[in-house]
This record gives sequence, C-alpha cells and structure tokens, in this order.
Amino acid sequence: MQFPPELLNQIGVVLEVTVAVVTALTVAFWISLVIWTFRDIRLRTRDIFAWLLAVVLTLGLGPIGLLLYLLLRPKETLAEVYDRQLEEEALLRDITARRACPSCQTVTEPEWLVCPHCRAELRRTCASCGKPLELSWVICPFCATSVGEGKSSGNGHHAAPVTRTVAPATVTGVEQA
Ligand SMILES: [Zn+2]
Ligand SMILES: [Zn+2]
Repeated sequence: MQFPPELLNQIGVVLEVTVAVVTALTVAFWISLVIWTFRDIRLRTRDIFAWLLAVVLTLGLGPIGLLLYLLLRPKETLAEVYDRQLEEEALLRDITARRACPSCQTVTEPEWLVCPHCRAELRRTCASCGKPLELSWVICPFCATSVGEGKSSGNGHHAAPVTRTVAPATVTGVEQA
C-alpha cells in the first residue's frame, strides 16, 4: 500500500508540531517544578547549600526529584519555627513570672504564703475558708468572700455590707418612722 507524498508530508508536519508542543510543555512544567522547589526551600531554611541541593535535585530528576525533596525537606517553615519559639518563650516567661518571689526571684510553690528566703509576703489566706489568695485578688475564688470583709454572718444575706451598727430594736423587724 502506497501513501501519497502530500499525505506523508502532512503527517510529518503534525508529528513535528506535536513533538514541539509536548517538549515545550514538559520544559515549562520542569521549570515550574524547579521554581516551586526554590521558593519552598527558601521559606524553610537559610542554608544556601540546601537551596542548591533542592534545585539541582528537581532540575536533574524532575517530578521524582520533587518527590524526594518533599520527603527530605524541613518540616516547618522558618515562620512556623519563629512562631513556635515565641509561644514557648511567652509560656516560660509567664510561668517564671507567676512563680518567682517578687523580692528575691526565688521560684516559689503556688501554696506558699511567704517567701522562705526573704520573708516577702506572697499570698494571704482567705479569712473565711483559709485558702491562699493572690495579693492582687479582691475576692476569694473558692468561697466568694471579699478580701478584707472577714467572715460573713452566715444568715443568707451575704451581699449586704455591714456599714453601721444596728440598734437591737430593728433586728426584730420593728421599723422606726
Ligand atoms: Zn523572696
Ligand atoms: Zn475563701
């Protein structure tokens, strides 16, 4: 069976164009992989050698190189590492500040009332329930007694502040007009 030369010519042109397009797409894809890898490794490390290695790996092996890179790259980005360090430092500072004696900076226990090293007052006891209270607290979180109020009278009217002495006659309920 003989093909006419014009048809062969046309098939040749179509093949050439197809090969050219596929090659161009592959090259573009390959370059995109390298660029993506370069951008990604830059976010994860400042080591120039690691940048070079990642780029060479992807440039040389393409998709397989990228796969290897994804397996080997540092887990966290530099921004994530920075955030985590900030969080840890803040937590540590918070714990140290809360537990250090304000006078001599000795680490104290949460239940201590005075610093055993310098006698500084750390906490006071609740007048009602005896639990340790921070000096800045204005009310006991355990029994709801205001700090400095002392023992409540226990008759249910715990919200009424005692501001003056009450004459015995009014206690029986007889109101004076
Ligand atoms: Zn102290
Ligand atoms: Zn209390």
